[in-house]
Amino acid sequence: MALTGVEIFKLLPKTNCKKCGFPTCLAFAMKLAQRQASIDLCPDVSEEVKQKLGEASAPPVRPITFGVGDKAVKMGEETVLFRHDKKFVNPCAFALEIKDTLSEADINSKIEEVLNSEVERVGQKLRIDAIALTNDSNDIGKFETSAKVVAEKAPAVPVIVCADNPQATEAAVKLFADKKPVIYGANSENADAMANIAKTYKAILGVTANGLDELSNLTEKIKSLGVTDMVIDSGARKAKDMLRDNTLIRRAAVKKNFKPLGYPVITFAQRDDSLYEALIGAIGVAKYSSIIVLSSIERWKNLALFTLRQNLYTDPQVPMQVEQKIYKIGEPMSDSPLLITTNFSLTYFIVSGEVENSKVPSYLAVMDCEGLSVLTAWAAGKFTAAKIAQFIKESGIENDINHRELVIPGYVAILSGSIEDKLEGWKVTVGPREANGIPAFLRSRA
Ligand code: SF4
Repeated sequence: MALTGVEIFKLLPKTNCKKCGFPTCLAFAMKLAQRQASIDLCPDVSEEVKQKLGEASAPPVRPITFGVGDKAVKMGEETVLFRHDKKFVNPCAFALEIKDTLSEADINSKIEEVLNSEVERVGQKLRIDAIALTNDSNDIGKFETSAKVVAEKAPAVPVIVCADNPQATEAAVKLFADKKPVIYGANSENADAMANIAKTYKAILGVTANGLDELSNLTEKIKSLGVTDMVIDSGARKAKDMLRDNTLIRRAAVKKNFKPLGYPVITFAQRDDSLYEALIGAIGVAKYSSIIVLSSIERWKNLALFTLRQNLYTDPQVPMQVEQKIYKIGEPMSDSPLLITTNFSLTYFIVSGEVENSKVPSYLAVMDCEGLSVLTAWAAGKFTAAKIAQFIKESGIENDINHRELVIPGYVAILSGSIEDKLEGWKVTVGPREANGIPAFLRSRA
């Protein structure tokens, strides 16, 4: 069970030396109880206390890394039910199901889809993270052959080996032994054998059950067999049951520190109707899945799920921002246009993308507005005529261009006169309100 702040305080040295960065031992104890600090910050606690507190203050959802290398996926470590309470920590992984009943050519083309799924959005690379190879054929040889194709063609992609037959599991998982795969399919009947395989091949064990009671008994049993890295599945497949069970699992882990359910959740979202599948996937993204298995990965579906995931897994307390500076887009010359915007990441990436689309080499002045978008920054008094004028003067752009024209976003047209007053010798031109108007705007002037 979790310790309260006062219980933790009793174990601390009580010298109020401040070496942990907190003004008193009590303040530090309170932060530990909220799991917002690590016991390692106090240099004066004994190893024994450290171990006791380490266990009590461990994240309620076990941290587990799935896969190895650049494409490894971190899971768990979550501490809240709602993103606005603090933040969601590790974005869920999307996995494409590949059935071993497919022909080798079809398996290859599915692997290609996964390998080509990467897109870049607001500076982050987003992709389908994993492959879920399923033993639909119930044929051990076929499963092993399919696993060989996956291991050979996608050696860096994390893999989930899905089979409830321990022999089939072992035949496939040995091909991914050094790659921290998930083996999914441990249940009440095969738990001992599957736990042994997980231990032998250092795999994460995917545990499935009929409901949460059976699931928590099973994870306790498997833990007692020496397997600590698990992903869990309550067995629910209907949307409302999945949502209910995922919520109960997270609530039990976070609010009660109930260790038998303190593991990342795997969700099977496969549906015949792809739009329906995307919606089930979206429920998983929003409500606590760490791995979501999909049957198909059309580009539209990926973009929708990636965007949702990215939005939910950004820290609400830290605006995403880019560095204040004059960015060169294309190879601008001294007569190239100069545009200005704010340093909210999304704004920057959308505006710079549209300037790039225009094929008109340009300078883009990106002003530090603490990560706010144009209208918000203007309303907050951070994107004002005086500040814009000062930024332009101090940026040194006057040495690079032979004109004195600044294009401002259409939403702040109201600033044009006052910027001209403050930036002597400059002409301010009002650009489009929306970024998608930029290409036509720039081309019409080129
Ligand atoms: S470093 Fe340890 S002893 Fe010092 S104030 Fe923090 S908790 Fe107390």
